[in-house]
Amino acid sequence: MKIVVIPGDGIGPETMATTVDVLEAASKRFNLNLDLQHDIAGHESLKRNGATVTPELLEKVRAADGLMLGPMATYDFKDEAKGEVNPSKFFRKSLDLYANIRPARTYPGMPARLGEFDLVVVRENTEGFYADRNVESGGSEMLITPDVVISLRRITRLCCERIARSAFELAMTRKKHVTIVHKANVLKIADGMFIDICHQVGKEFPEVTIDDFIVDAMMAHVVRAPQRFDVIVTTNMFGDILSDLTAELSGSLGLGGSLNAGTDHAMGQAAHGSAPDIAGQNIANPFSLILSAAMLLGWYGQRKGQQAFNDAAAAIFDVVADAIAAGEATRDVGGKLGTKETGEAVVRRLAAG
Ligand code: ATP
Ligand code: MG
Repeated sequence: MKIVVIPGDGIGPETMATTVDVLEAASKRFNLNLDLQHDIAGHESLKRNGATVTPELLEKVRAADGLMLGPMATYDFKDEAKGEVNPSKFFRKSLDLYANIRPARTYPGMPARLGEFDLVVVRENTEGFYADRNVESGGSEMLITPDVVISLRRITRLCCERIARSAFELAMTRKKHVTIVHKANVLKIADGMFIDICHQVGKEFPEVTIDDFIVDAMMAHVVRAPQRFDVIVTTNMFGDILSDLTAELSGSLGLGGSLNAGTDHAMGQAAHGSAPDIAGQNIANPFSLILSAAMLLGWYGQRKGQQAFNDAAAAIFDVVADAIAAGEATRDVGGKLGTKETGEAVVRRLAAG
């Protein structure tokens, strides 16, 4: 399996270095024959190549089986015409990675403030407020006058259908329950359509029970009783916000792994950002990126019918849980280890089998 590895900014380089060690250990133990191709994007690439993502990099990623993308500081990327595209958004759109799968669960050995839970946010990843590529003005935001801005949110039948299908298929492998999160009381047409389509797709999965919540009420329900949820399906920006909440409720934003999956490509990416406040101090939690890498291996294993990759993914999930239970973790989840040492502990456990 060929994986392009891009470290990113802030805590990206240190968490990605740790993740690469874990991938190499998994490759060795499970004979995965991983081919990791290191590259750059974002600020570093803008400086060296004049663009945050070069056409050569896109070709390389297309030819690979997967991508591990570190977090990027994107605030100063303003002018796409000058090559300042947000790499994360760019790969999601270019590779049509329409499903952003963001699991959040508590772990034994960590205080679970809200009780134990295990859920997955399935976030639509290509449209909503992020749908700029099909808008001719060049962006989803338009400055009408210096004092008036309009932001567009596009919802399409196709994207609703495929994200709903991802959610129901995932639910079939879990507790067989899907929660639809929306704002149909205000966005009556767009989110009305989203709900209708989710229910329609749900008819193909009669074993799966369905409920739905308005996004604001959902925040209260998740904080009150996260254990009532299994798979949560929602549109792009609601999923972005909700999954930060669920990751933090699980113990730390640093536990939020995520997979951006399309038909032919997938990209592992931590759910958190570049966390510049803690960058370079060897204190960032590497688990979110490590778990994302495991999800990428599992995605490949399932798609190619290669059990060794599924086994490797499962082993990484187990080893991370064991490490947390043993306190071999960073301080945000109650441990005392640094980023690097946490990775070493995971590698040791993986190698020991
Ligand atoms: P960005 O603009 O790139 O999203 P940000 O300032 O919003 O950066 P986030 O990465 O989104 O920061 O994280 C928010 C906060 O959560 C950070 O300030 C950091 O303290 C904490 N955090 C995020 N990721 C981790 C991690 N892997 N380990 C420990 N703490 C983290
Ligand atoms: Mg952020």
